[in-house]
Amino acid sequence: MRAIHWFRSDLRIADNTALADVCRRADALAAVFVLDDALLARHRDAHPRLRFLQANLDDLAAALEEAGSRLIVLRGAPHRCLPALARACKASLVTWNRDYGPHAKERDGMVRDALVRDGVRVRTFKDRVVFEGGEVRNIQGGAYSVYTHYRRAWWRRYQAGPPPARTVPAIPPCVPDAPVEATPGLSGLPGRSVRADSTEIPRGGAAPARERLDAFLGGAARRYHVDRNFPALAGTSRLSPYLRFGAISVRECVRAGLALAAAEPEAEEGVGAWIDELVWREFYHAILDAHPRVLAGAFREAYDGLEWDEDADRLEAWQAGLTGYPIVDAGMRELTATGWMHNRARMIVASFLVKDLHIDWREGERWFMRRLVDGDPASNNGGWQWAASTGTDAQPYFRIFNPTSQGERFDPDGEYVRRWVPELEGLPGKEVHRPWAARRRPGAYPARIVDHARERAVALARFRAVRGGG
Ligand code: FAD
Repeated sequence: MRAIHWFRSDLRIADNTALADVCRRADALAAVFVLDDALLARHRDAHPRLRFLQANLDDLAAALEEAGSRLIVLRGAPHRCLPALARACKASLVTWNRDYGPHAKERDGMVRDALVRDGVRVRTFKDRVVFEGGEVRNIQGGAYSVYTHYRRAWWRRYQAGPPPARTVPAIPPCVPDAPVEATPGLSGLPGRSVRADSTEIPRGGAAPARERLDAFLGGAARRYHVDRNFPALAGTSRLSPYLRFGAISVRECVRAGLALAAAEPEAEEGVGAWIDELVWREFYHAILDAHPRVLAGAFREAYDGLEWDEDADRLEAWQAGLTGYPIVDAGMRELTATGWMHNRARMIVASFLVKDLHIDWREGERWFMRRLVDGDPASNNGGWQWAASTGTDAQPYFRIFNPTSQGERFDPDGEYVRRWVPELEGLPGKEVHRPWAARRRPGAYPARIVDHARERAVALARFRAVRGGG
């Protein structure tokens, strides 16, 4: 039997659920990735992530070749090019791993309908998450909206029966009639200066992902519960870009973490805290699955009435890391330089945009989607709505990060700020977090664009206004 596997956010061979299934059934396989025009149009400015996608596609293509197959890259609308490929290859089965965003679900529905109309069978699988939204439900059968409750139910589900690893058997040879044209690199797409982007993105592919997992579990995982809050330290796994594109399986991450905790009881606390973060990822996927409207507006709809400022100069200062608040600027410059930002810094810069600059969280969400290598609609929206206090189980609206004390607490030696804000290199110790009070003021660094104490009061008043609290 001839079949097609459609790769999407599962760019690996190992422990790939749909691929394992189709390889067991097919005698000949077309392994395909579609450069979806609609998706590319939505993410046309996301150069670092497009480059990382390309790096992962290159790695996958090499891995398939080594396995005696090859990767076919098509360009166009999936509901047109996949049925056309199925006809050309005389394939009677198409498989893929499921996605949970509204655009992806709509696209997949169209592809399925078109294939079924042509008499082609479709099989889809859970792979991107350990548990889908529908598998972790509250007693009323609905989706959880409080993380701690979700987490408890998630663990109960896991203990009842963790999903097994999916061993992929030998990959069948490529179907003889599959198109032969070479991979059209993303950099070749018209109107996109993807290649000119200078962000220092990580190495793409399954091997670097595995190396990161091994390095993290071999070291930092033991102190993760403490070190994860300090952006100057290499205290986290930095696996997010790989999980985003499925260069590594989330099941494998959980399994490997639990194996370490079982072998080394001292690692249990760190590993437990780390897996809790993977569960946040699942929680946000489940929220997006159940409430696709969060991509357009606040999860707590009352907050759609919040008053925002439209201030292009302030937005630009935030994007460029020129706000005059060192920890905010360090985070934003780390993002520009590397396409990644430490989670503590993400929380601080997001709070600053929303509660100090009073700029709509959707502007921040958009900017992050443009710059982040790990940019993922579910986690990014969840993170922004958490910081903006508009989301499910979010930061309470009256908890407003003071960017100076956040810097002093989580970057106590100023190492993170000095790394990303060279204008402040000369300031000793904690002084780096208050350049305005330094004995010798660094001339090249901007003055604060707003006064935190004043803006905090403005934010509280605006939140209270929509809450009806005066
Ligand atoms: P680790 O600390 O090693 O955690 C392991 C994995 O768990 C991560 O790789 C990630 O997949 C997941 N994870 C960790 N923290 C979170 C979290 N708070 N929410 C959801 N998943 C989490 N993460 C993204 O993957 N993509 C995004 O677009 C994204 N946008 C964010 C926007 C804002 C405003 C905030 C506050 C957070 C955002 N996060 C996002 C979550 C988090 O910052 C990153 O996942 C994390 O910093 C990645 O680094 P790491 O791989 O070293 O994480």
